[in-house]
Amino acid sequence: MEKLELWDKEYFWHPFTQMKVYREEENLIFERGEGVYLYDIKGRRFIDAISSLWCNVHGHNHPKLNKALIDQLQKVAHTTTLGSSNVPAILLAKRLVEIAPKGLTKVFYSEDGAEAVEIAIKLAYQYWGNKGEKRKAFITLSEAYHGDTLGAVSLGGIDLFHGTYKDLLFESIKLPSPYLFCKEKYGRLCDECKQELLNMLEEILKSREDIVAVSLEAGIQGAAGMLPFPRGFLRGVRELTRKYNTLLIVDEVATGFGRTGTMFYCEQEEVSPDFMCLGKGITGGYLPLAATLTTEEVFNAFLGEFGELKHFYHGHTYTGNNLACAVALANLEVFEEERTLEKLQPKIEHLRKRLEEFWELKHVGDVRQLGFMAGIELVKDKKTGERFPYGERTGFKVGYKCRERGVFLRPLGDVMVLMMPLVISIEEMDHVLDTLKWAIGSL
Ligand SMILES: *Cc1c(COP(=O)(O)O)cnc(C)c1O
Repeated sequence: MEKLELWDKEYFWHPFTQMKVYREEENLIFERGEGVYLYDIKGRRFIDAISSLWCNVHGHNHPKLNKALIDQLQKVAHTTTLGSSNVPAILLAKRLVEIAPKGLTKVFYSEDGAEAVEIAIKLAYQYWGNKGEKRKAFITLSEAYHGDTLGAVSLGGIDLFHGTYKDLLFESIKLPSPYLFCKEKYGRLCDECKQELLNMLEEILKSREDIVAVSLEAGIQGAAGMLPFPRGFLRGVRELTRKYNTLLIVDEVATGFGRTGTMFYCEQEEVSPDFMCLGKGITGGYLPLAATLTTEEVFNAFLGEFGELKHFYHGHTYTGNNLACAVALANLEVFEEERTLEKLQPKIEHLRKRLEEFWELKHVGDVRQLGFMAGIELVKDKKTGERFPYGERTGFKVGYKCRERGVFLRPLGDVMVLMMPLVISIEEMDHVLDTLKWAIGSL
């Protein structure tokens, strides 16, 4: 056990982690999971309140998901989909099209959310090329997050993560982050601020004919600290991209598979984008898999004789992996069998009620929620909104404290994120919320 801790610090470079600090601290090393609980190598139990970075849906070690994997494993673990096919990848593509917004009829697989976005970028760019139009510019939002590969970073707008690489990126035109813009100018999300943002977008679209696509997250900017959009903003963007003949990329990597209360957020605004990027919850949190869904119109632009070179020169070794697709199919079956979305609705309401209590806390500056996604922003001074100095890692310390009472959280800076597995019970939710309240209260 001590050896594992030692070797972890000796050999393993962790993502998004300052290793100097990590190596000075005691870290959790998980060994097994059961439902919403994770157990570490010391036998301690924690509620996984961030769904293992927003991907777990029906809990860990789910018998049905396990069985789907074992069944597939006994057939074959992986076969290439470059020019050949496999059974679970076909069945999953069909199923995804059935549940996706109408108009999305084609599925292109990859392994992580960033790749799903990367593929949307390349498809959108080549779509115009194949149609004989030269277009190069993308419109995106400040504070956007689409993953960490360079194309996805180019569409991103979080300086802290993305600033370092700016010389390597292609340029994109950035609209303000809707939440921050509305807060600053109107004090809240409202129709006026929505309209003002849409007017800004319209001005750009009107003046340029080289826009490849507009890209945005669905309904909420997750990684920026859970910043929701005004209702109807996504729909407004869809209408403008249609009006000015450009494409729309909607990133549902975080919001997909029930997180906002419906299978996809797009449903809530009756939006059907040209590209919908999926990842995270697609396998219920079991294996890396992502998908870029697109339309008949886009697909058809890539059809041609072999020598015309119109096809999409893109693929990964594990594209459409058999095991990942098998467990993703089972994930969707469990949604139906366990009536996950129906049972989620009272939990969303419960979360809403309980989040109100957090406003009373001295160091809480803002509380935000969309469906089952929530963020609680910590501030040094509630009146002025002054933040804690970045180097103090206040959010991290609160998360660390929650471990004392068996809750595992990972904040985004000083925003405490709640992204509980959809299957969590009201009692377990209460334990998470009580613990977080206590930990923030102890600041
Ligand atoms: C997490 C996330 C991504 C990136 O997904 P990875 O699987 O981490 O590459 C992209 N977009 C959004 C909205 C995300 O939350």
